[in-house]
Amino acid sequence: MAAKPEKLLAVKGMNDILPPESARWEWLEARMRSVLQRYGYQNVRTPIVEPTALFVRGIGEVTDIVEKEMYAFEDRADKHGQAEHLALRPEMTAGVVRAMTEHNFLRDSGRRLYYFGPMFRRERPQKGRYRQFHQMGVEALGFHGPDVDAEVILLGSRLLRELGLKDGEHFRLELNCLGAPDERRAHREALIRHLEAHVDLLDEDSKRRMHSNPLRVLDTKNPALQDMANAAPKLLDFLGEASLAHFNGVRAMLDAAGVRYTINPRLVRGLDYYNLTVFEWVTDKLGSQGTVCGGGRYDGLIEQLGGAPAPAVGFGMGLERMLLLLEEVGVLPEAPVPDAYAIVPSADGLPQVMVALEALREAGVSVVLHPGQSSMKSQFKKADGSGARYALIFGADELARGEVTVKALRDGTGAQHSETLAAVASWAPRLKSNI
Ligand code: ATP
Ligand code: MG
Repeated sequence: MAAKPEKLLAVKGMNDILPPESARWEWLEARMRSVLQRYGYQNVRTPIVEPTALFVRGIGEVTDIVEKEMYAFEDRADKHGQAEHLALRPEMTAGVVRAMTEHNFLRDSGRRLYYFGPMFRRERPQKGRYRQFHQMGVEALGFHGPDVDAEVILLGSRLLRELGLKDGEHFRLELNCLGAPDERRAHREALIRHLEAHVDLLDEDSKRRMHSNPLRVLDTKNPALQDMANAAPKLLDFLGEASLAHFNGVRAMLDAAGVRYTINPRLVRGLDYYNLTVFEWVTDKLGSQGTVCGGGRYDGLIEQLGGAPAPAVGFGMGLERMLLLLEEVGVLPEAPVPDAYAIVPSADGLPQVMVALEALREAGVSVVLHPGQSSMKSQFKKADGSGARYALIFGADELARGEVTVKALRDGTGAQHSETLAAVASWAPRLKSNI
């Protein structure tokens, strides 16, 4: 006898999203789309798999993502023996920029775009950190001014607030300015001198990055390095007039709009492509996975990826972390329930019942049919378990009269009455839970 086939499981760190949890995702996405639409952002969908070079060039070689976290592989060789180097996208900005450049979308004007989708990073799975996770993000491409930075931040702030989160209590905004490349170079030299002076303290990661990417050392989460990082030369002190004017412009608009923020001089973000404004929304409710959203300006990226030079600003928001935060603070809605549950004592009635249910759905009522044959008792139990507000009982006698019995399941009265199937449109609206 053949052995029973082994049960196959999902890849570690990659999660199934199943009912009823999937309803929360739908709720979250719908809320977010409504905000995005009010700011005039349009949806963009790009491939999950891209050439590895796109991320190496876009995100930067000396970053956690490219050094350690990327799912990169060599495709099968074609008939000439050539194999492409491909990667599962670890983030989406590089892909969006590639698509805009490839299709000449920035030739005439800027674009305001948003996306939802899975991203892949080979990290140690834990609460709020997965190997396949989902981001919602926005990218405003082709706009120079601080007004667009402010707009993107206002949009993010509105997203959080319209989901029911409270500024100060559940999240806060941190802001920094990374200036221009020449300002970063001057700061970099001062920073390397500071790091060299404290080399005995540094961990392996920091030592390795001290010369290749010293700014990233400031991003360290190592508790032993916090004092050293706090005392490091601040990029803000190296900013010239133009960068300061941009930063102050963003701040003035946020101040006027009543958006609160703290300036964090150590905020550098985990990707190389940022300049000028960078920001993060953080929460202290999710432990070390406390960044729910991060973004900033990346004026050099489009050119770096082969496009005509154009400025850009955007952010990415982790949806798993958003849902964890919403659950933590108790603002997630109940999963939606059907308006009605159809109980059919005899299979003979099914053709007539199907017609009636279609008429109800035509009238906007959500109604679930009890599948297959079972006792009235078990059908009522299922109706109760479904959360529906009404049971519709299609007994043989009722059907013979062209009627259905409507029984209230949720108001505690259990009251029931008859309705005429021929006139569904006149009474169906009363079943709808939103009336
Ligand atoms: P972290 O410092 O937590 O690793 P990050 O700086 O790598 O975050 P970004 O690349 O800026 O994150 O991605 C934007 C958002 O995507 C993060 O703020 C977070 O909410 C989410 N995110 C990033 N990596 C993961 C992951 N492995 N699992 C779940 N969410 C993630
Ligand atoms: Mg990370």
